[in-house]
Amino acid sequence: MLKSHPVRLGLLALLALIGLCLNARAAAAIDRFEPASWWIGFKDPNLQILVHGQKIGALTPKLDYPGVKLVGAKPGANPNYLFIDLEISPSAKPGLVDIAFQRKGRTLERRQLELRARDAGSAERLGFAPKDAIYLITPDRFANGDPGNDTVRGLREAANRAIPGGRHGGDIEGVIQSLDYIEKMGFTQVWLNPLLENDQPDHSYHGYATTDFYKVDARFGSNGDMRRLSDAAKARGIGLIMDMIVNHVGSKHWWMADPPGPEWINFGGKFSQTSHLHITQMDPYVTQRDAKQFADGWFVEVMPDLNQRDPHLAKYLIQNSIWWIEYAQLSGIRMDTYPYPDKAFMSEWSGRINAEYPNFTVVGEEWVRNPAMVAYWQKGHVNKDGYVSYLPSLMDFPLQDMMRQALLEEEKQWPQSGLFKLYEALANDFVYTDPGRLVVFPDNHDMDRILTQMGGDIALAKMALGYVAMVRGIPQFYYGTEVLMTNPGPRDDGIIRSDFPGGFAGDRVNAFTGAGLSAAQRDFQEFTRTLLNWRKANPALMEGRLLHYAPNASDASRKGVYVLARQSADDGVLIAINKDNAPKSLPIGEFAQALRGKTSGREILTGKPMDLTRTLDLPPRAITIIDLD
Ligand code: CA
Repeated sequence: MLKSHPVRLGLLALLALIGLCLNARAAAAIDRFEPASWWIGFKDPNLQILVHGQKIGALTPKLDYPGVKLVGAKPGANPNYLFIDLEISPSAKPGLVDIAFQRKGRTLERRQLELRARDAGSAERLGFAPKDAIYLITPDRFANGDPGNDTVRGLREAANRAIPGGRHGGDIEGVIQSLDYIEKMGFTQVWLNPLLENDQPDHSYHGYATTDFYKVDARFGSNGDMRRLSDAAKARGIGLIMDMIVNHVGSKHWWMADPPGPEWINFGGKFSQTSHLHITQMDPYVTQRDAKQFADGWFVEVMPDLNQRDPHLAKYLIQNSIWWIEYAQLSGIRMDTYPYPDKAFMSEWSGRINAEYPNFTVVGEEWVRNPAMVAYWQKGHVNKDGYVSYLPSLMDFPLQDMMRQALLEEEKQWPQSGLFKLYEALANDFVYTDPGRLVVFPDNHDMDRILTQMGGDIALAKMALGYVAMVRGIPQFYYGTEVLMTNPGPRDDGIIRSDFPGGFAGDRVNAFTGAGLSAAQRDFQEFTRTLLNWRKANPALMEGRLLHYAPNASDASRKGVYVLARQSADDGVLIAINKDNAPKSLPIGEFAQALRGKTSGREILTGKPMDLTRTLDLPPRAITIIDLD
């Protein structure tokens, strides 16, 4: 053991002081440099890099790389931020752009921007479309492919499957291992609830409280795993849709500890609840007070609301979206809470993505029952207030809600109720620029499971899934719905998003293999598989024309019946819902426009041949789908 000695102590103190000085010199230590990679050949050659480090704003960046021009650099309102503007020529070559951070000509720090070549056809990629069917997965709850990452040191919340709102351990590897199942079910797109890091103390499993925009949560895997999932899915003809949020972040987002400036977070960084009054975005008589409370108000205290009017933040968010499209080779984006961010920013965001990827699909979540409000956001819609949006698709919440009502309600001619309301809701499509590009769904991660919505009635749930699969638009089913998952009891998101049977070690029931499923579950899974695989084999029909016949509850012989048809140039399918407890037999002549001279077909769910020379015969309480010969 060293003995303490005054001289030695003095020396130690001196060394400590030198150490402190060295630390002070290295005070510019950069802990964030985003994005750290970019691609050559975007329509917009500009790139802005956000740099964070102690007093980094006082340093001057320098670089010397052919084809990359340093346009300028600005410190943030907080001197620990520096924003570097670059212009990247299409002739630049892939490589590492070395950026030196200097003070008085002396380099104190260096960082490299990795410049990459884009994948062939990247800009022209086709986004998801009406020929597709989407499987929505809550990754924490679907399949645990890597139990080693359930709890990760350094991240706040550990796995605990006993808590409905806790982390259960599902991950990207689990989805990769399930691709065979997903493909065989007939899905051609996978939408995963957000995968980015959510280092929140609790309820972090759902992913809607981002704490790092450039990093997949380590409990789900890595950025590389996400790319691996995208590649493996693509090899099976399955596209990847990323769930994004630009409205808010998690309270533990890294920049909340040292905000870039007071204007990045709405309401001065203090919680003020949003009014949830979506209509303020379209209301011609709206007051500034009401518009502000909706768009600038926060969802909850742990989700600070972002002010996208800040030009640095706006650039950061747009670039981040493009970065993920390119990096993970996405086939689509699902944008969370679409009306809540600054609407001028959303016009810019959607416009910029549309400019870089003209055939890509972004679907927005506008959760309202009024189709006019949904139509407002769709690309090409002419709005009286002059608002321009470039959003190709929206979630069809109005139709979902009406379908639920229509299936549950008693059929009445007056006041009109039941299926007539669904007919009328669909006829309302005249408000949309492109109703065929809406995403239709029986349920999702935020609402009761369809079987729960239908009061446990499996026949009604089949009608709902059948309708969603066959109506115009792009169907989306929530994982587990195919095996009759329900959420009994009072509404609890953690229960709606329950663990998929077979996704976790020790599961007694396995929906992937069918082991332990009840007869009803197996039947419903097979029903879903048949429906989607038929759909997948008939893309022209699913892109084709839709016709429907008005239900008529006043006539007992047709009460509870709703008939629709899909047509392509030379093919057709007839879809008939019979909600009634009695079988129906309708004169075939009524459906001449749907049949176009065809006198026979095959019912796709039962495989039964159908004679269509005299009557359309419908079994009770069922959906009948006839592939016309
Ligand atoms: Ca895991």
